[in-house]
Amino acid sequence: MSDKNFLSILTGSFSTPCADNPTVAMIEAAYRHHAIDARYINCDVTADNLGDAVRGAKAMEWVGFNCSLPHKVAVIEHLDALSDAAKIIGAVNCVTIRDGRLTGDNTDGKGFLASLKEVTDPHGKTILLLGAGGAARAIAVELGLAGAAHITIVNRNLAQADTIAALVRDNTGSDASAVAWDGAVTVPDGIDIVINATPVGLGDGEAMPAIALDSLKKGQVVADVIPNPPRTRLLREAKARGCTPLDGLGMLVNQGVICVELWLGKTVDAAVMKRALQDIFGDAG
Ligand code: NDP
Repeated sequence: MSDKNFLSILTGSFSTPCADNPTVAMIEAAYRHHAIDARYINCDVTADNLGDAVRGAKAMEWVGFNCSLPHKVAVIEHLDALSDAAKIIGAVNCVTIRDGRLTGDNTDGKGFLASLKEVTDPHGKTILLLGAGGAARAIAVELGLAGAAHITIVNRNLAQADTIAALVRDNTGSDASAVAWDGAVTVPDGIDIVINATPVGLGDGEAMPAIALDSLKKGQVVADVIPNPPRTRLLREAKARGCTPLDGLGMLVNQGVICVELWLGKTVDAAVMKRALQDIFGDAG
């Protein structure tokens, strides 16, 4: 009998479109670095095929997969269990398959939190969150669970911001409120952390969310979820005003580290993953 093993551990991602999703490069860089015999396969899966894809992953004994747009909510009906955070958030971006059971988690908010904690602890902090989509929802819930004092959610669609504020108040120990985004947002006095969780700036280094830049204050942390380009205009303007900028690469890398932990029980080197993304997107500077 040969002592060779030609069977790799399988992981991957289901989304559409997916050709521009760099997660495969980031995760496989970690697998190579740690000599883990695993693959991450980036799969273009349409909404109609999601159920078949999930059953296929289970049949092929994948250990887990990511779900990105448009499957983060739709995948839930195909799963056996949800983590507490995924239950509150109502969306799943990471599925673990163990003994044939599929468990959904949401690592977007946890990834953001891990990145944020590199510059500040959100416990007891007052936060202004721009946007009320899936990323904002995951971030708001994790900030709430991490003990933020108050989160103000600013969104064009006020009802969506209200929903997230209620979610935070009802499920975490934090207070939260919603504000309509009408014109340039003025950052109120007393805010410790400003977060852009809108897609404004994605793929456009000059685009910036409508915010009154003069209301940013020295010493505030200004974070962006945008990973590409990492050094968004918002972050450049914030840095010029004495704020601490935090790019979206850290969120992307840390949510990936958490996914690999869930799938393989191994903690991979975040720096290796970040370098793989920087090679693709350019340095955050
Ligand atoms: P959604 O489509 O779910 O939500 C988008 C939100 O942004 C909505 O609240 C929307 O407001 C708001 N918005 C969109 N355009 C504008 C605008 N021009 N001005 C003001 N508000 C605007 O997207 P997601 O939450 O899923 O994703 C948001 C961003 O987060 C994406 O760019 C994605 O790449 C990034 N992301 C980054 C991750 C990382 O690891 N770094 C992980 C996950 C996401 P309204 O409701 O009024 O339309």
